[in-house]
Amino acid sequence: MQIMGSQTSAFLKDNNLLLHKIIVVLLLTCTPESNTNDLLPSSNSYSSSAPSSLMHLPFDGHLSFDNLHFAAQDFGGVFSSLPLAVLYPRSVSDISLAVSHVFQLGPSSDLKVAARGHGHSLQGQAQSPGGLVISMESLQKPKMRVFTGKSPFVEVPGGELWINILHETLKYGLAPKSWTDYLHLTVGGTLSNAGISGQAFRHGPQINNVYQLEVVTGKGEVLTCSEKQNSDLFHGVLGGLGQFGIITSARISLEPAAKKVKWIRVLYHDFSSFSKDQEQLISLEDAFDYVEGFVIVNRTGLLNNWRSSFNPKDPVQASRFSSDGKTLYCLELAKYFDPEVDESVDKEIERLLGKLSYISSTLFMSQVSLLEFLDRVHVSELKLRESGLWEVPHPWLNLLVPKSEIDDFAREVFSNILTGNSNGPILIYPVNKSKWNNQTSLVTPREDLFYLVAFLSSAMPFSTEKDGLEQILARNQKIMELCKVKLHGTKQYLPHYSKQEDWEAHYGSQWEVFMRRKLSYDPLAILTPGQRIFGNKIRVT
Ligand code: FAD
Repeated sequence: MQIMGSQTSAFLKDNNLLLHKIIVVLLLTCTPESNTNDLLPSSNSYSSSAPSSLMHLPFDGHLSFDNLHFAAQDFGGVFSSLPLAVLYPRSVSDISLAVSHVFQLGPSSDLKVAARGHGHSLQGQAQSPGGLVISMESLQKPKMRVFTGKSPFVEVPGGELWINILHETLKYGLAPKSWTDYLHLTVGGTLSNAGISGQAFRHGPQINNVYQLEVVTGKGEVLTCSEKQNSDLFHGVLGGLGQFGIITSARISLEPAAKKVKWIRVLYHDFSSFSKDQEQLISLEDAFDYVEGFVIVNRTGLLNNWRSSFNPKDPVQASRFSSDGKTLYCLELAKYFDPEVDESVDKEIERLLGKLSYISSTLFMSQVSLLEFLDRVHVSELKLRESGLWEVPHPWLNLLVPKSEIDDFAREVFSNILTGNSNGPILIYPVNKSKWNNQTSLVTPREDLFYLVAFLSSAMPFSTEKDGLEQILARNQKIMELCKVKLHGTKQYLPHYSKQEDWEAHYGSQWEVFMRRKLSYDPLAILTPGQRIFGNKIRVT
């Protein structure tokens, strides 16, 4: 049965039917993939009247058919598709008008709409081949506003950057609780995924720290949603890969901002003591405020690089430490404190570190402001930009690996698949699901404890060696194959698939709910084509 026009509403009335038997068939297969050498206007088959009808809509902002190349690019630098037009909205009604218009073109139109945050997707997820891109950073309403009180929150537009939110909330001595490692990303972009960093073991990801959203659905309706109001839409949109609505504003919960941060790094020779210590730390209620870690493969002179920002506890011992090119594991911790109140913070840290089994000569510490700590990746960004290494392809792979599979994963990947430098950081740290709300659209492993493993590689343009795009993609493929064949509980984070059966496998038992929500909130599959989950139309049998 193909859902179209009046059939749609009749069908949607009977959601029970959906729950029993949903098999989704793509009428047209997923959007074709292209690479940077293959800039489109893609073979768009939208109705020829669509561009002119868009042109005549009375927007408060403006619609542009020129200078579209930025909307065909992203941080990944691998996929690129030109849109037909970019909308720079000045009001929520601009977004609603555009989406309602496309919805009213009906099922025979192939015109799609993608919200674009800061364009830091990795595989074209914010692109709309031959369609409309909405530049969310142009939406400056509602004006960012902090609400103090017992449960403080900040209300922000969907295209606001997290770094701006931090600056604004710090004026009130407050800050969001859960972060990403890099803050030059938008609220709508990270809430469509999850927003995971070293605070997630305690507070859950960013999607679990939101009180309320305003959303424009795929039918153009503007709806407010929260745990209590339109809760199905609320849960659907959080981690929903932009499939159910465009987030136009969000209320994000806040906590008192730390005055200072002790930022700590220690090294391990073996993965099992490293992960055992990480797991111990995230099980403690009042230990550290941030727990992450990374793998160091084949790097020499690493400790010398750290010396500009970290002090070794024992400089003599630290200078004698040599990695001999072996794989090392670095545990990274942060303790928030107020120097005027927490006089014994050093003793407390010493006590906590005393429980760990890192290589004793490799304790490095630094004291920084909360802003310096949270915005730390921006410092690297500036350096990389200077040397022309920021705007290179980023074939990243992010995985969520259940605890029961992490030892096998580490053995196979760090000893066999990764034979040399990965040309970028490899993050690895555990989180506990008890702190996560499992009603959202985010897919995680089934176990209570799982690891985020992120291969954040940069590809050197024109290289055919290990640091070239082809070789890094081939390595990612090997890791994915390993997961498919042996590590069945592992899930992709920031998922990217181009075959429908892979999306179904990714969602597993959550696929039915995902489909039901798609049919309720975006029945013509207008929104966010760059995720490549649905083709032009959804057909249900
Ligand atoms: P975009 O790339 O513009 O959009 C992402 C997706 O969301 C697209 O599908 C888009 O259509 C959709 N979208 C955008 N805005 C909206 C909206 N308002 N409503 C609905 N849908 C919308 N992630 C983590 O979880 N933890 C990290 O520590 C982390 N670190 C990162 C570091 C760097 C340097 C980079 C580049 C990325 C990092 N990420 C991290 C990944 C990041 O969260 C995602 O790439 C995110 O999507 C980027 O946000 P953006 O604002 O650029 O979104």
